[in-house]
Amino acid sequence: LKSMLLKYERSENKWLDAASIADGFMLKDILQGIEADEFEPFFQPKIDLATDQLVGAEVLARWNHPRLGVVGPHGFIPQLEQTNNIEGLTFMMLEKASLALRDFHDKGHTFSLSVNISLASLDDTAFADKITRIVREVGLEPNHIILEITETAAMSYAAHALENLTRLCMKGFTLSIDDYGTGYSTMQQLTRIAFSELKIDQSFVTDLSDSEAMRIVVESSIEMAHKLQVKSVAEGVETQKDWNTLKRLGCDTAQGFFIAKPMNLASFVDFVHNN
Ligand code: C2E
Ligand code: CA
Ligand code: CA
Ligand code: CA
Repeated sequence: LKSMLLKYERSENKWLDAASIADGFMLKDILQGIEADEFEPFFQPKIDLATDQLVGAEVLARWNHPRLGVVGPHGFIPQLEQTNNIEGLTFMMLEKASLALRDFHDKGHTFSLSVNISLASLDDTAFADKITRIVREVGLEPNHIILEITETAAMSYAAHALENLTRLCMKGFTLSIDDYGTGYSTMQQLTRIAFSELKIDQSFVTDLSDSEAMRIVVESSIEMAHKLQVKSVAEGVETQKDWNTLKRLGCDTAQGFFIAKPMNLASFVDFVHNN
């Protein structure tokens, strides 16, 4: 019952968030923008804290609005998710990012890319087959792609969610739990999913250097990840101090403005060549 209540609260919050978005766009304009190929992936580097090496990048959707310039996900993701239209965007981001990754691999840069997956996609039994086809068609393998699924989505009781996560894992995709610490998973639930990466939410990382309590939470998360033999990733790393603390705590990977903001492909190509 408690988890049902929490779930209800969360879904209500989500609805409120979506309704109060100032820069929210009309669904029909968003779909028209997708049709007109106005969406592109931005890339945010992920760096190994021990070696300073680039180990991957997160793919983040951006809309090049013809009149308003670059629009971030908060302007279009909620509308697409709530109307069951998110898959078209997911496939387009995956395809464009995979093409870019194949070029990097051809030039000898063998990192991986992380793509965000919505809860609704875990209800589609054909999802694993569809995205495997997209990745293979450009000459990559699923093991080059990390799928980020929010903690809340991963723990959902949606009929096919767990089955679909297993299917994605069997295909060779790497599963990552996104926004870890903001959901309501139990240790027991966590062990049911074959995930290989834990992304500690930026709300914990932000206060890491000033709050003893946050440091303990982050340290425990890193420790748990290691005991489960999965990678720990900290997102929202904004300062040298955060970086140092995370390194000292043994966190594997860092991502955040301290390293680089999400950037378009041309800038990311430069970033890769200079690192
Ligand atoms: P997320 O998956 O938690 O992505 C991390 C967000 O934190 C990104 O926001 C990123 O730009 C931002 N960020 C990165 N480093 C820092 C930092 O150091 N400080 C701060 N304050 N923020 C940082 P963005 O790009 O606006 O994306 C927001 C959310 O939209 C993402 O949260 C993700 O849930 C969703 N999203 C983005 N692209 C896609 C997509 O293609 N598909 C789906 N389903 N969701 C997406
Ligand atoms: Ca993410
Ligand atoms: Ca996140
Ligand atoms: Ca988030």
